[in-house]
Amino acid sequence: MDHPKNERTLVVVKPDGIQRALIGEIMKRYERIGLKLIALKMFVPTEKMIEEHYLLDSEWKKNVGEKAISSYVKKGETPPSSDPIEVGNLVVGRLKKYMTSGPVIAMVWEGAHAVELVRKITGGTEPRSAGVGTIRGDFVVDSYQMADGADRAIRNLIHASGSVPEAEKEIPHWFGKAEIMKYSVPHEATLYDADIKSILG
Ligand code: ADP
Ligand code: MG
Repeated sequence: MDHPKNERTLVVVKPDGIQRALIGEIMKRYERIGLKLIALKMFVPTEKMIEEHYLLDSEWKKNVGEKAISSYVKKGETPPSSDPIEVGNLVVGRLKKYMTSGPVIAMVWEGAHAVELVRKITGGTEPRSAGVGTIRGDFVVDSYQMADGADRAIRNLIHASGSVPEAEKEIPHWFGKAEIMKYSVPHEATLYDADIKSILG
């Protein structure tokens, strides 16, 4: 198996993240934990690209519906539909509109536990319930209720791969092989080498 330091994850700063001028703030969070940026580009995605991206995982549509429904139930509110697939279909349509509304920045970050750590720093899907200290918890206010009321996607600034298999499918969907850099930075030795050498000369 590859060394764990080679784990990779896809991050996309969504159109609202760019409109809110949060690009630097978002990148800083992933960079300062020790992850390495190995690919980056800015462009306006097509609807086809977004639909394909969210349907890379055949379970996603059902999961997204279940997540929305359980968030309503937890707050004692009534979901717009009790069928997770129906909610999932709605969300795909809304995401196509949201994600193609302006430029996005797509990135690949690499490092130990990259997928899990990026999700932790990013926070839960719904900003209303995302943890304090996370990007979605600290920088935006949206909720399932507001998004459904306006028939739009939840504005939560960022996409981040949800699991290692998801990342492995998403990265080649967004980046060609030649766009992904292979390079080292000195602090990787401090993060990953079994012995820290040469500090005292
Ligand atoms: P995450 O981005 O946290 O992995 P999901 O994969 O479950 O979340 O959903 C993808 C994106 O779809 C979310 O980030 C959000 O922008 C949007 N979304 C999810 N559920 C809903 C919903 N019920 N209504 C509107 N938008 C939603
Ligand atoms: Mg997801």
